[in-house]
Amino acid sequence: MIIETLSVFPHVFSPYLGASIMGRAQARGIFSFAAHDLRDWTHDRHRTVDDAPFGGGQGMLMKPAPVFEAVRDLSARGGCAPRVVFFSPCGSRFDEGVAARLSRERRLLFVCGRYEGMDERVYGLADDVLSLGDYVLTGGELPALVVIDAVVRLLPGALGDEMSARDESFSDGLLEYAQYTRPADYDGLRVPEVLLSGDHGAVSAWRRKSAIERTARWRPDLLAGAGLVEDEWELARRAMGKGRDPRDPGNGDSATGGE
Ligand code: SAM
Repeated sequence: MIIETLSVFPHVFSPYLGASIMGRAQARGIFSFAAHDLRDWTHDRHRTVDDAPFGGGQGMLMKPAPVFEAVRDLSARGGCAPRVVFFSPCGSRFDEGVAARLSRERRLLFVCGRYEGMDERVYGLADDVLSLGDYVLTGGELPALVVIDAVVRLLPGALGDEMSARDESFSDGLLEYAQYTRPADYDGLRVPEVLLSGDHGAVSAWRRKSAIERTARWRPDLLAGAGLVEDEWELARRAMGKGRDPRDPGNGDSATGGE
């Protein structure tokens, strides 16, 4: 896969993408990365990429011309046109399903906003406009890194153990089951006996139960899409506590809180 970013801070990407799993995936040729500087598509002495908004208001907006020129120029280069992904708090919510969809592309170009955002006309270039969540960051570079990380770890061979991506949260619609490592007894806090039993069937059943309970407690909004059978709904109901109906969409993630 070819991954590119277009941003006014192109130098922020490589420290992260050169390290650990991302660095190894690049070294193994699982993906290649290039960070483009949006200012390379400006034509004035100051390499200006921003301007004041029409109608007044605070801050500056990214001008359309450098973005249009850069995306068109980059799209025409290379063997295949990229899927062009913009970032905005107004975009559709990024999740594991979107990561899986993007991981099937051959080439991705992530366009990162700054300042008060971008001239609205540039979104006509977008195949996707993604939001990381209901909060405002100073720029699209962190969202791009988050999305790149989530996408790359789904590429075949990117993780040492192929199973680790398959079993994780959201892969089957539920949060991941609780996990433990040595010691089996830490200061009186004991690991569930079944995990020490060596009985794979029992461990597997316990993990399914644990995943349902954790999802019911922390993210009951996910339960409706998790394909639970009747007994499992009862388990979810008990995990959520008395008087709560896990099938009620009003029982959203903020309703139950953490532990
Ligand atoms: N004025 C914009 C608004 O209120 O929607 C916010 C602009 S933000 C300060 C600047 C840039 O950061 C955006 O263009 C986008 O690229 C990125 N950004 C900020 N928050 C984001 C989020 N939650 N998800 C995705 N991108 C975000």
